[in-house]
Amino acid sequence: MTIELPPEATGVIIVDLDALTANWRALADLVAPAECAAVVKADAYGLGATEVIPALARAGCRTFFVATPEEGRAARLLNPDARLFALDGLIPGAEELLIAADVAPVLSNLDEVAAWSEAAKRLGRRLPAALQIDSGLNRLGLSAADVKTLAARPALLSALELRLVMSHLACADDPAHPQNAKQRAAFNKRRALLPSAPASLAASDGLMLGATYHYDLVRPGYALYGGQAFQGGPTPVSPVVTVRARVLQVRTLKTGDSVGYSATWQAARPSRIAVVAAGYADGFARALSAASGKKGGAVLVGGARAPVVGRVSMDLITVDVTDIEGEVARGDLVTLVGPGLTIEAMGKSAGTIGYEVLTRLGPRFARRYLGGGA
Ligand SMILES: *Cc1c(COP(=O)(O)O)cnc(C)c1O
Repeated sequence: MTIELPPEATGVIIVDLDALTANWRALADLVAPAECAAVVKADAYGLGATEVIPALARAGCRTFFVATPEEGRAARLLNPDARLFALDGLIPGAEELLIAADVAPVLSNLDEVAAWSEAAKRLGRRLPAALQIDSGLNRLGLSAADVKTLAARPALLSALELRLVMSHLACADDPAHPQNAKQRAAFNKRRALLPSAPASLAASDGLMLGATYHYDLVRPGYALYGGQAFQGGPTPVSPVVTVRARVLQVRTLKTGDSVGYSATWQAARPSRIAVVAAGYADGFARALSAASGKKGGAVLVGGARAPVVGRVSMDLITVDVTDIEGEVARGDLVTLVGPGLTIEAMGKSAGTIGYEVLTRLGPRFARRYLGGGA
């Protein structure tokens, strides 16, 4: 795979849109007859909603979840036909934008239900909405008391077109966790009190818990982008993202020489150190710093692992390439994320998760998109 890069680019994020759409199809097959939506919040997990949304739509995806009203407006411009839901719900004052972009807010409390109903009455037509029930995550969602209020006063929902009733799981990555079944039971009990509407409980990990978690629609995000967070076995998806960065210089160190800020790493032998144009401002977490006696992150140089040495700085990392066979030269590209170095592995070394790795990737790297045509 040869990628044409502008000579001045310090790095590149390569997004394989064919892998992305294959992932969506694999998950859609797995959950059929339930519908497979796509969560494209946070600029499609940092990979670029502008490319991701049209590619998924061409593959047959019809329903998209964003977080914010503004993301909803951007998604609508990319796809006039999509069903769009905004997970952050109805932010006070966002009614006009949501109506103009035809984005259905995921309503999570009675104030939002009231405000969206008021907007519908002013407009003189019913407005589309999803209702989120809290089933134990205690983040967003109608409380048990809110659900009872709506059950006792169905008129509160009469101005709305209820497109979806949903909830969100706290522990879906762990199939053995008792909270999964508890939340499913709470969801069933509470949604039975509401007007009947299509139901949704599962995201990337929840859909791996089996058909009883699929309901009418599943809402994966992370797995579409190649993420493997489910601990009960592999999710049937492939990696989508490769990140590569330039070698700026290769220097030779004597035993005892130190590298980087605070001189935390000293060469224990004569060493070759590649200075790479990626730092924490590019999403290479500072937590991947290494010191003498403390391992940090790694990169791949021509397929072989090379450890980060010293502190990760804003724009640069230093990598020990002493054991790399063959020449490492100025201008070469090394791999920060890719085959052999997953976003999960990088997240784990940095004390975080692949989700955070993805959404923080390189705002100043070049971006290249492969495939995605059909
Ligand atoms: C982010 C989010 C999703 C998607 O989660 P993944 O783990 O990325 O699949 C689904 N539903 C809600 C409510 C979310 O906030």
